[in-house]
Amino acid sequence: MRISCFGIGIALLAMAAAGQNASSSSGGMGTHATNEAKTIVIRAGSLIDGTGAQPKRSQIIVIRGNRIVSVGDAGSFQAPPDAQTIDLSSATVLPGLIDTHTHIFLQGEDPAEGGYDAQLLKYPASFRAARATVSARRALEEGFTTLRDLETEGAGYGDVGIKEAIEGGYIPGPRMFVATRAISTTGGYPLEGYAPEITVPKGAQLIDGPVEARKAAREQLDNGADWIKVYMTHRSWVDDKGNLVSQPTLTVEELKAIVDEAHGWRKRVACHAYNGIGLQRALDGGCDSIEHGLDLTDAQVAQMLKQGTWYVPTLAVYYYDWGPENTDAGRRDRKRAAVHGASFNKALKAGVKIAFGTDMGGIPWTDPIAQEFAREVEFGMTPMQAIQTATLRAAELLEMQGKLGVIAPGAFADVIAVNQDPLRDVNALKSVTFVMKDGEVYKSVAPAR
Ligand SMILES: [Zn+2]
Repeated sequence: MRISCFGIGIALLAMAAAGQNASSSSGGMGTHATNEAKTIVIRAGSLIDGTGAQPKRSQIIVIRGNRIVSVGDAGSFQAPPDAQTIDLSSATVLPGLIDTHTHIFLQGEDPAEGGYDAQLLKYPASFRAARATVSARRALEEGFTTLRDLETEGAGYGDVGIKEAIEGGYIPGPRMFVATRAISTTGGYPLEGYAPEITVPKGAQLIDGPVEARKAAREQLDNGADWIKVYMTHRSWVDDKGNLVSQPTLTVEELKAIVDEAHGWRKRVACHAYNGIGLQRALDGGCDSIEHGLDLTDAQVAQMLKQGTWYVPTLAVYYYDWGPENTDAGRRDRKRAAVHGASFNKALKAGVKIAFGTDMGGIPWTDPIAQEFAREVEFGMTPMQAIQTATLRAAELLEMQGKLGVIAPGAFADVIAVNQDPLRDVNALKSVTFVMKDGEVYKSVAPAR
């Protein structure tokens, strides 16, 4: 049974609130009551509205139910008599942030904890779902009120269930756009390296040929995928000349079958692609977003511009878990990071559409999601541009412009606050003190009056 956002009973909300209050990790929890008609007035010391406009001092945001109804100067503003006021006048207020590349079902890939394989081989689905619930809640409490979660890594359609549980009010979490199982080819995804006589689970749905490709897309769309995720490259290494090489997976024909099917459903296709042949096939096959794009040629950047392809670089994750220096894995890991920053800078200068993504899950969920902002700045963005990738630009990627990633009349009331100025140091976004999603307060460390 699906329950609409507005149809939830008080008991369920009480459950969610009790769950929140059981946590001591994020400081004071906000009130969690809801009322469609309730009016909330937020006093913002400084407002970064998500569009890239210069911040404005002393702003008033009026919220009714789950929508923003007005934004304006504090000046002579008179709050309606029945309104609840939230005083963030000493904070910087922003739209709820959007991470367009996460894996709530993945919990880091630390070799000491068994790496990727243990998560698929050793844990029941319920255990993985329980941890995914924690990951989703953690994202929300870090100010990420929307996620595009790009596949479950062997946990089937679990993301659809988590999304429904969030929408139903059973658990706290961000708005979810989910990709379900993802698609790769035989030889194109783990688990691998086991005896051929043993059948092990795979982290993605493997297809061979356009017919199987289209069928997989249909199955995933039928079961609730908002996006289709395709792996267009798999293994990577450094060749004798010192170049990064990545193994291509799907053919152009296979990808085209998926893209054609998804677009017919008015859904879109995200392609994991590092570089080379696989990345070229991703572009030629009509992919809507290139994920990672470690090593982009000038011609590929030009093709992305021409086709309007999105770039979700996920910089920070490539600084994790490097193999030892002077090993094949170590050389590969260092090379990947080295070419990535240059590609990012090149795409930025050319005007490629860039959206914020982290690959959280590949990064342990206990680490800050907002660390990606500093990498974006390191490789050429201004702090405001970096913020835009997680607000306006990410909302455009999700075709939710005007509804998400902006503080403006008509937008969903997804509002966060930080105590320090993120335009001086984007790392301020690692310390979110206030989180509202859909007009409900999920976190409020600062005292609200
Ligand atoms: Zn990923």
